[in-house]
Amino acid sequence: MPRERLYLFDTTLRDGAQTNGVDFTLTDKLTIARMLDELGIDYVEAGYPGANPIDTSFFAERRPLRARLTAFGMTRRPGRSTSNDPGLAALLAAQADAVCFVAKSWDYHVRVALETTEEENLASIRDSVRAARAKGREVLLDCEHFFDGYKANPEYALACAKAAYDEGARWVVLCDTNGGTLPHEVERIVTEVCKTIPGDHVGIHAHNDTEQAVANSFAAVRAGARQIQGTLNGLGERCGNANLVSIIPTLKLKPEYAEKFEIGVSDAALAHLARLSHALDDLLNRAADRHAPYVGESAFATKAGIHASAMMKDPAAYDHVAPERVGNRRKILVSDQSGRSNLLAELERVGFAVEKNDPRLGRLLEEVKEREAIGYAYEAADASFELLARRLLGKVPHYFEVEKFDVNVEQRVNAKGERVSVSQAVVKVKVGDDIMISAAEGNGPVNALDLALRKDLGKYQSYITGLELTDYRVRILNAGTEAVTRVLIESADESGEHWTTVGVSANIIDASFQALMDSIVYKLMKSNAPA
Ligand SMILES: [Zn+2]
Repeated sequence: MPRERLYLFDTTLRDGAQTNGVDFTLTDKLTIARMLDELGIDYVEAGYPGANPIDTSFFAERRPLRARLTAFGMTRRPGRSTSNDPGLAALLAAQADAVCFVAKSWDYHVRVALETTEEENLASIRDSVRAARAKGREVLLDCEHFFDGYKANPEYALACAKAAYDEGARWVVLCDTNGGTLPHEVERIVTEVCKTIPGDHVGIHAHNDTEQAVANSFAAVRAGARQIQGTLNGLGERCGNANLVSIIPTLKLKPEYAEKFEIGVSDAALAHLARLSHALDDLLNRAADRHAPYVGESAFATKAGIHASAMMKDPAAYDHVAPERVGNRRKILVSDQSGRSNLLAELERVGFAVEKNDPRLGRLLEEVKEREAIGYAYEAADASFELLARRLLGKVPHYFEVEKFDVNVEQRVNAKGERVSVSQAVVKVKVGDDIMISAAEGNGPVNALDLALRKDLGKYQSYITGLELTDYRVRILNAGTEAVTRVLIESADESGEHWTTVGVSANIIDASFQALMDSIVYKLMKSNAPA
C-alpha cells in the first residue's frame, strides 16, 4: 500500500518567536533553520520580512536550504492595489520559495477589526495570491480564526479558503488562532472543508490554549488535512503552538499514522530528535522540560520498585515506544522510594554487574536513602549515583586529591569609579607524588574554583580538556533544621555525552566543589584514565 505524503510546516522562527522571553538573533535564526532542515521539515517559515530588521535581513539573501523557505505576511490592505502596498511589496521581494499570507476568515473580524466589507476581504485574498503566484512563489493562505469564523458563518469562512484555492494557492491553512477549539470540533469542521477543498491542499495550524494543539492537529489529519503546522518544543505565544517534537514521533512510530503516511523525517533524523529539542533549549538558555513526551529526561523513567524488576526482564513491555528511536533512553530512578530491584536495574544500565543477593547492595541502598534525606538528588544526578555505587563497591580509582583550596571574593571600586567584584581561587592538588598549585580568576567564586581546579591536573590534564560545564543549578532546601544548598552541575564532553552531578552543603562553595569533583572524576573514569 503506497503511503500518502503528509507535509510538516515549522513556524518556530515566526509564530514561535512570539514566545514571551524569546528573542532570536539573525544567527539564532540561521542555526535553527539549519536544524529544521537536517530534521527533514518540508517548510521553514523564517519570519515576516518588512516587519523587523532581523527578518528583513534573513530574507535579503538566498539561504541554502533543502526545505521550502517561507516568508510570512499580510494580504494587500483593503482599498489598495497590490502594486501600491509597501508591506506586500516587501513580502514579494523576500528571497523565499513560498509565501504564507495571513487573512481574516471570520466575518465579524473582517467588519470590526479590518473595517472593510466581506467582498473586499475576498478580493484582497484573490489579488494577493495572484500577485505572489505571478512572482513564481508557492502560496499558502493562513485563514485566521478559521474555526470560530466557521462556527459563526460557515459560508463566509469557506469562501475565504476557496478564494485562495481557486486562485492557485498550494495550501489553505485552517488556523485555530486563539487555541480554543476542541478536537471533535476540528474533526467535524475539517471534514466539511475537505468536501470543498481537497484535503491534500488543506493544512492545520493549532494553538495550545486547551492543551490540545497536538490532538487538534491529529484530528485534522484524520479528517483529511495533509499539512501540519507547528513549532519545536511547542514554542509560541500564550500556551504555545502545536509541538512538532511530539507530533513527529507519533507520525513515525504509531502504526495508525506510520502505515498510512510518509513524512520528510527519516528514521536516522528521528534518532536525533531528543538532542535537537535540547539544543533548542540550550540556545534559548532555558532548562529542558524533563517531562516532555518522547524527548524529556523522564519520558521513559520509572520509579516504582515492582516495575523495575519486571522491566529488567522485558523492558519493551513497559515503554510505549523504544526510547532509542527518538534518541532518548530508558531510566530507572534511584530515589528514596526505590527498592533493591530499582538499584539493580540502574546498576545494570551503567554497566555494573552485581549479584542479586550481594550484601553490599543493602548498604548502598541505605547510603542512597540517608544522603537523599539530607538533600542529595540522585535521580537527577546519574553520574554522582554511579560514582557513589562504584565507591561503595570499591571500584573508583584514586586519581588525585585536593589538599586544600581557597576562594575569595573582593569587591572594590575600579579606576573608572565603578563597583566591581573579582573572585579568585587557589587550589592545591596532589597527583601521585606531584603537588600542583593553580590559581584562577572567575566571574564568581564557583567559576574561579572550577577554572583553578581544571587548570592543572598533571598527567590527567589531557583527559579533561574536552570537559565543559553546560548547566549549573542551585536550590536552597530545608533538610532537618538547617537550610542547605543543593548544586546540580551538568557537564558534557567532546563525544557529546552529558552527565549530571550533585553536591549538598550548608555552604554553596562546598556544595559546588563536591559536584565539580564528581564531574571531573566521572570524566576520568569514563575516559579510562589510568589510576
Ligand atoms: Zn499562530
